[in-house]
Amino acid sequence: MKIPEYVQRVLTALETAGHEAWCVGGCVRDVLLGRVPEDWDVTTSALPEETMALFGSHAFPTGLQHGTVTVRAEHRSVEVTTYRVDGAYHDHRRPDTVTFTPSLEEDLRRRDFTVNAMAMDLRGGLRDPFGGQTDLEVGVLRCVGEPDRRFEEDALRILRGLRFAAVLGFAIDPATAESIHRHRELLGDIAAERIQAELLKLLCGKDAAAVLRGYPDVVGVFWPEVLPMVGFDHRNRHHCHDVWEHTLHAVEAVPPDPVLRCAMLLHDVGKPRCFTVDDDGNGHFYGHPEISRELADNMLRRLKCPTGFRETVVRLVAWHDRNIPRTDRGLRRALRALGEEDLRRLILVKRADNLAQAPEYRGIQREIDRAEEILDKLLAADACFSLKQLAVNGRDLIELGLSGPEIGRTLKALLDSVVDGELPNDRASLLEAVGKL
Ligand code: ATP
Ligand code: MG
Repeated sequence: MKIPEYVQRVLTALETAGHEAWCVGGCVRDVLLGRVPEDWDVTTSALPEETMALFGSHAFPTGLQHGTVTVRAEHRSVEVTTYRVDGAYHDHRRPDTVTFTPSLEEDLRRRDFTVNAMAMDLRGGLRDPFGGQTDLEVGVLRCVGEPDRRFEEDALRILRGLRFAAVLGFAIDPATAESIHRHRELLGDIAAERIQAELLKLLCGKDAAAVLRGYPDVVGVFWPEVLPMVGFDHRNRHHCHDVWEHTLHAVEAVPPDPVLRCAMLLHDVGKPRCFTVDDDGNGHFYGHPEISRELADNMLRRLKCPTGFRETVVRLVAWHDRNIPRTDRGLRRALRALGEEDLRRLILVKRADNLAQAPEYRGIQREIDRAEEILDKLLAADACFSLKQLAVNGRDLIELGLSGPEIGRTLKALLDSVVDGELPNDRASLLEAVGKL
């Protein structure tokens, strides 16, 4: 249970000046779990102006209205916040006022979950008035106090709760779980960016699928498009799960990366809208990648996801059902269309999609292995699949007397020929080909 040197210095300085000072919240939780905390927060009886004066030029008033001072120590930052209680909440998000209190216990009481409401001092002494340590040991996420009140105060806690359950692999205490379901609509008051941040962390948690399975109604508040997937029967022999279960298995089958997890969550979101049944009673979903792409694009815009993130996810969704080529030429074309990074992602997407289908159809995994071997071989041999790898460039063409849009068109045509294996990627051959064009 080692508090890092730079945090110890902050605690020591506060104590030496006669104040109480504790590490608090997520860092205590993580230390007790044997995890490395991302950041260390300190809570103290010192008033913000006292903290400011004590740390002088190392102190920055980053959130004075909430009692927070950022202290720089050994090139790291520690947030030092005065013990406080939150006033009334009117927007389901933020207290109207905060007031400072001399009581550590009062400060711990305002925190969301018991496992997040513990404090540890320099000597490793623990303050745990709400049974956080026991909940950590048994793996239970439980609100501090009355769940209904806590979610009414701040609806973001609903998603924080699901996120912690997914990341820590914890069960949600029944009273807390029930209250989450009942208050889900309050998430409508929460800023899209906050929902996005929590959702992506949730998706990367080790228990993401289990949490999504238990709470599709919560996700449905901001993404109602997912709801028709729940219980939707494929009526197709390739599938042993309904669309939602298939989706959750696919989410679990990709590495915990936000782009991949999000792509899997959304890859079949358009299926219910594309459903048809043929004369033999088999279900089909013609055109579902394109409909899923459209829906996903909308959904990611709604959560204000960064453009690059959104574009990559929707591209994977659009491509997820295409066959992966297993020829040099096919893979060079795929590389040209997607680039190496996204083609590798697409391979992971296709593997996961297949693993989430009926076990009799896993033969595709071997085809994907083969495609990956060829891809590795092409890349090791420096295969040319982009304009910047082409052995000639615009300047070469200008020297040959080309100008204007002709240049770009010619470069593209040359790249096509190289990708398709009609021309080698060497200068002489390419320049000769330009002469003939
Ligand atoms: P992470 O690992 O994501 O940093 P964390 O628990 O440290 O998780 P932070 O957002 O850094 O989360 O918040 C630090 C602490 O502040 C929490 O552990 C909790 O005690 C308290 N806290 C944060 N957000 C809320 C909230 N919305 N309602 C109540 N308490 C909160
Ligand atoms: Mg934290």
